[in-house]
Amino acid sequence: MAETIVKIENLVKRYKDLIALDHLNLEIKQGEVYGLLGPNGSGKSTTINCLLSLLAFDKGNIEIFGEKMSPDNYSVKKNIGIIMQNVAVFDELTVYENIDYFCGLYIKDKEERRKCVEDAIAFVELDEFRKFYPKKLSGGLLRRLNIACGIAHKPELIILDEPTVAVDPQSRNKILEGIQQLNRNGATIIYTSHYMEEVEQICTRIAIIDKGKKIAEGTKEELKKMIRNTETVTIEVIDIDDDVKNKISGLPHVYSVEFSDGKLEVKCSDGKHNLIRILGVLQECGLNFGRVYSELPTLNDVFLEITGTALRDSE
Ligand code: ADP
Ligand code: MG
Repeated sequence: MAETIVKIENLVKRYKDLIALDHLNLEIKQGEVYGLLGPNGSGKSTTINCLLSLLAFDKGNIEIFGEKMSPDNYSVKKNIGIIMQNVAVFDELTVYENIDYFCGLYIKDKEERRKCVEDAIAFVELDEFRKFYPKKLSGGLLRRLNIACGIAHKPELIILDEPTVAVDPQSRNKILEGIQQLNRNGATIIYTSHYMEEVEQICTRIAIIDKGKKIAEGTKEELKKMIRNTETVTIEVIDIDDDVKNKISGLPHVYSVEFSDGKLEVKCSDGKHNLIRILGVLQECGLNFGRVYSELPTLNDVFLEITGTALRDSE
């Protein structure tokens, strides 16, 4: 059994009347890429800030590396790399100097630090920008600098809070691959996002949070098994009458049929030949159709079934 790296028990955080975290429990093991997935305002950043003792909380207990976390627990903090949601670098320092500054908070030996800074620059591929000031960097490069500042001291636990928001697709992929590489190199990762595709792509275990509560947890496969949906069939049709709709609704395994914007969406639970049966009904009724696709459940479906609202809508 892998060692527990982070243990959050019954964490409650209020901002005046608002309960931002409502008895949250999380346990993160060594070697995981642990995803915190939730819409904006669900409490991801609050969790991270409490975890790091940057924010006082009302109730609960937090342990990191088996030690109780506190603002002055330097030995624990030294082994954590934090990449905040809002880029936090110094405008008056160059790329190199910024990374050197943050690394210097933990590594005092000059030669060792120089090597760490070089490794970080190479890792985020910012070599040709080392003398640039942050204001001259594009959004994606700035994000990469922010990451380099957080990881240069080679921490065992790396926490990234929405590191890909407002990043171009190419930089986004680089960032996601980089996170997986850090994990392969031995770091435990906590990754927060409201993008379900990213979390699916890189996380070994996922907690879905909503309104400060953990509503589900597991691998992506486990999460998808928790819900009724196993397949969503979408068919482009110009229009559809109630008779056809009812026939499709009556098919085995079909539990929801909806038509909007020229798309018929049929949700199925179990069964192997749903698509064929649905197309059979359309042909039998002489209905013309355009593109047809069948999709496996996504984490959005998991969120939707558990909470009744779509994760996507929160963007
Ligand atoms: P997320 O990171 O998932 O988007 P946050 O942790 O930032 O969510 O916020 C959780 C909830 O707490 C939201 O409703 C947000 O408006 C509220 N909140 C966050 N920070 C503050 C603050 N400093 N003062 C008051 N309310 C806050
Ligand atoms: Mg946040």
